[in-house]
Amino acid sequence: SIVVTGATGHLGRLVVAQLLEKIPAEQITAVVRDETKAADLAARGVRVATADYNAPETFDGLFAAGDKVLLISGNEFAKGRVAQHTVVIEAAKAAGVALLAYTSAPSSLTAALADDHRATEKVLLASGLPYTLLRNGWYHENYTENLAPVLEHDAVVAAAGEGRVSSAARADYAAAAVAVLTGEGHENRTYELGGDEAWSFAEYAAELSRQTGREIVYNAVTGEVMRGILTGAGLPEPLATLFVGVDASIAEGELVVATGDLSRLTGRPTTPLAEAIAVALKG
Ligand code: NDP
Repeated sequence: SIVVTGATGHLGRLVVAQLLEKIPAEQITAVVRDETKAADLAARGVRVATADYNAPETFDGLFAAGDKVLLISGNEFAKGRVAQHTVVIEAAKAAGVALLAYTSAPSSLTAALADDHRATEKVLLASGLPYTLLRNGWYHENYTENLAPVLEHDAVVAAAGEGRVSSAARADYAAAAVAVLTGEGHENRTYELGGDEAWSFAEYAAELSRQTGREIVYNAVTGEVMRGILTGAGLPEPLATLFVGVDASIAEGELVVATGDLSRLTGRPTTPLAEAIAVALKG
């Protein structure tokens, strides 16, 4: 079976949808913590298993020998994601799965946000399991799904200076995961995944201007100002600090991934940022 954790998340849903185009539904297991969110998947014939990264016993007997597992990293920053991911890795090890693929972060990213990923990679490598590291670069959607304040103020605000980002659509990263899960020869390989083209925030603002017909500028601010804006918008302080750290990394060029791994794995060019903007503006 091909097993996908986080299957009701944004990335997980895209992975399962793309798997359904390639293999029979009964060969797919969606691991979810809330079964009610997976009713549509069950209706399509996907096996649904309920388990929570915070409850190791829920993973007992969930995997079978020979499974190929995609561990989609969690989003509960305060709950200790390394311990959560370790629960899944240990269950996979106990079952003797054929492959455990993990959605990590680019090796170039030094921001604190990447710490959990580095630590999880270490646990995975030490487990001795056949692994694939999918070091996902940034999603277009990190920006394009948060356009409300941009359109309200006609300004893209970031503490990223002139830094560039080679983001890609979530669907592109999903396609890379599907290629690894359904293909051969990806054992013990590490892929540095990013979009084919890197963009600057000034270019992003210019593209937004072009598509909206308005004058949207890039307002480069300091990390302190950015932290204030984020906490002012209701973000908890620790999360605001994490995000400001990412902007600082972007300013240093740490989210430029120029390996070409993503388009090579998927066999097609990555989705242009302009396309994700168009999708978001259509609402
Ligand atoms: P989502 O937040 O949409 O999905 C996270 C998934 O993890 C959800 O399915 C969620 O379950 C599941 N999950 C969280 N905690 C637990 C738990 N305790 N037990 C079981 N499942 C759990 O994120 P995306 O799909 O967009 O991205 C996938 C991951 O990639 C993120 O979780 C994050 O680690 C990372 N990420 C990467 C970004 C990038 O730009 N590369 C940007 C943002 C995140 P449920 O559906 O029930 O909520």
